[in-house]
Amino acid sequence: MRYLEPHAHMVSRTTDDYQSMVAAGCAAVCEPAFWAGYDRSSPAGFFDYFCQLTDYEPKRAARYGLPHFTWLCINPKESEDVALATEVINLIPQFLPRPNVLGIGEIGLNKNSRNELKVLEMHIDLAARHDQSILVHTPHLEDKLKGTRLILDALRSDSRIRPERVIIDHVEEHTVRAVLDRGHWAGMTLYPISKCSPARAIDILDRYGTDRLWLNSACDWGESVPLIVVRTALEMRRRGWTSAMIDEVIYRNPIRFLSQCPNFKLPDA
Ligand SMILES: [Zn+2]
Repeated sequence: MRYLEPHAHMVSRTTDDYQSMVAAGCAAVCEPAFWAGYDRSSPAGFFDYFCQLTDYEPKRAARYGLPHFTWLCINPKESEDVALATEVINLIPQFLPRPNVLGIGEIGLNKNSRNELKVLEMHIDLAARHDQSILVHTPHLEDKLKGTRLILDALRSDSRIRPERVIIDHVEEHTVRAVLDRGHWAGMTLYPISKCSPARAIDILDRYGTDRLWLNSACDWGESVPLIVVRTALEMRRRGWTSAMIDEVIYRNPIRFLSQCPNFKLPDA
């Protein structure tokens, strides 16, 4: 089996996880910028984090033969302070030329607040000005459907954004259609029990097909499973999916989307 892990917060994971992923057939890992588990108080904390994502972490992954890519932003959880967010967003352009940067993400909404929406629009503008792809997080805490609609409308209201260069992660049964209908890609973030489980994700694939969909673990410092994409692939096989169909979802689809990012290249692809 071969696969890509398109959404994993590896700074929170151990080198054992890197070894397990490579042994399971992982061909590349992509790490969106994320909340650290606490609110960072100054732009300097983000500067250091962006250095970690673009310098130290790709080197750590390379020790296990795994290409590492990243997305940069200030996470929605830290977007209530618009002045801080403005300073952090102004830091990002200097990092965009670094060789493992894919674009802007994971941006989006957490509590669907007015300030979060303002910072989301600033990120969309940043992506448009620098011709970057976008990775979006949709809310778990408050109304996911309402948050997804707000995000879709913010994306559509900026005419410079090409829908096919945007992936909306954390979709569920009630949000996937709206995302695909707008021309975006949709990601299913797999959790062992809560949120989108492997069984639910496969039900969604059975219903909507495999076009413009990917699977990811979003593993971080909380309860999460770095190999859950592989476990889901095994469950797909049990449910009658062929190897070629599974390869389409867990390997070819992420490559199709990510190939729109100029920095994305696999050594043997
Ligand atoms: Zn994430």
